[in-house]
Amino acid sequence: MGLLLLLRRSSAGSGQAMSFGKSRARFSMEAKTGVLFDDVAGIEEAKEELQEVVTFLKKPERFTAVGAKIPKGVLLVGPPGTGKTLLAKAIAGEAGVPFFSISGSEFVEMFVGVGASRVRDLFKKAKENAPCIIFIDEIDAVGRQRGAGIGGGNDEREQTLNQLLTEMDGFEGNTGIIIIAATNRPDVLDSALLRPGRFDRQVMVDLPSFRGRLGILQVHARNKKMSSGVSLEAIAQRTPGFSGADLANMLNEAAILTARRRKEEVTPLEIDDAIDRITIGLKLTPLLDSKKKRLTAYHEIGHALLMTVLPHSDPLDKVTIIPRSGGVGGFAKPVPSDDDINIESRSEILDFITIALGGRAAEEEIFGHDEVTLGAMSDIRTVADLARRMVTRYGMSDLGPVALESGNNELFFGRDFMPQGAEYSEEMATQIDRKIREIVFRCFGEARRIIRENRALVDRLVDLLIDQETIEGDQFRKIVAEYTQIPEEQLAAK
Ligand code: ADP
Ligand code: MG
Ligand code: ZN
Repeated sequence: MGLLLLLRRSSAGSGQAMSFGKSRARFSMEAKTGVLFDDVAGIEEAKEELQEVVTFLKKPERFTAVGAKIPKGVLLVGPPGTGKTLLAKAIAGEAGVPFFSISGSEFVEMFVGVGASRVRDLFKKAKENAPCIIFIDEIDAVGRQRGAGIGGGNDEREQTLNQLLTEMDGFEGNTGIIIIAATNRPDVLDSALLRPGRFDRQVMVDLPSFRGRLGILQVHARNKKMSSGVSLEAIAQRTPGFSGADLANMLNEAAILTARRRKEEVTPLEIDDAIDRITIGLKLTPLLDSKKKRLTAYHEIGHALLMTVLPHSDPLDKVTIIPRSGGVGGFAKPVPSDDDINIESRSEILDFITIALGGRAAEEEIFGHDEVTLGAMSDIRTVADLARRMVTRYGMSDLGPVALESGNNELFFGRDFMPQGAEYSEEMATQIDRKIREIVFRCFGEARRIIRENRALVDRLVDLLIDQETIEGDQFRKIVAEYTQIPEEQLAAK
């Protein structure tokens, strides 16, 4: 009963999509998107900038009367899930005009000539229905710099792009068609696309801040039954790095769990589970007590103990050995401090590296070098990456405050990182490697020392973790305080 009610929203709006064109995959048109600016939260600047586009569509005379040229193209730039499509639909919804959309990625697999003719069809239909919005998602898939060689010369893509440029030049700015395109790679776009009269306006749509996340949660909580124990502020606090889509998914996931558990309202428990599910993966059945389980427990306790005793880390939120989908055996996670996941100072980074090595350090300390497992693989990758940055970019080693690598390919949290040509001599490369090793070995030694010197405490925590499968931060600190004589308040207030 509750399920239908709670889920209805996720499919709303897709019902009235229609298609045109002669061949299979086409563009689609929604006569009414039904999306309003009120449905978009957390990206206020982008909204403000685009408010004007609504006015262009509704009252073009106001601009043409004074001789102002209405822009034709707006490029929305930002990582996935931040609400670019939603925003484009909201413009159409607010202006009460039809919404034509197509995705650049659909052109990639087509036969020569099909993409270009599809673009022609799209503009023809749009002109017949002006005023309207044309939305081109993932424009980078067609709009890459021509002849740039990624994937070799792609005739089809170039023909499609040329057709798009021709169409954009082929109508006046005041015909009431506004083209909105979205991308997360503005740097690869063909410069011809960005010339005046084409996509000459760029609007950034970034991951939301704390306030933004709160706003987005409010939008998506509107149609859900939340128990009074659920604090949207607290959720916003705990979800730095979440996009609007992640937040929407998380609330929906929580609602599904609520229905599945036959509860009347979403409680903090469902929210917790939904956040873990989005960030870490699905819960799987716990392992039986076995050597593997013990090893996992030592590994996670290694992380959790270091997180608790090292001064420059956020305190532990919880540690668990309930396995998750995606090969996760367990995890220890900190309470996010404030708005964003920022570690900044040298000592914070060093503590972070030490904590990340804590899992492997515990395995090695307790089971010996030959028994260490692959469980630390991603920890080790994280460490290697951070240590390298300390040396080559942040100027935090005794090679001095120099940036040896620019890392300018690193768009949006390094998702698109590509190795670059060497920017330094071979000799420097050797020195860099030596510094990186020094950092990692020093932190690893420190992690092992702390685990060794607190062996009784570690064993006690491991037994408890095997027994309970999850230890919350408070309970964990109580035990650590007992064994180390460090006051509990001090461990909690970092
Ligand atoms: P993008 O196009 O940037 O990848 P979408 O617009 O497709 O992101 O977002 C997917 C879904 O996530 C939206 O339909 C909406 O439910 C939710 N969402 C994303 N950003 C926001 C936002 N800023 N405000 C409200 N909901 C959002
Ligand atoms: Mg999108
Ligand atoms: Zn680990």
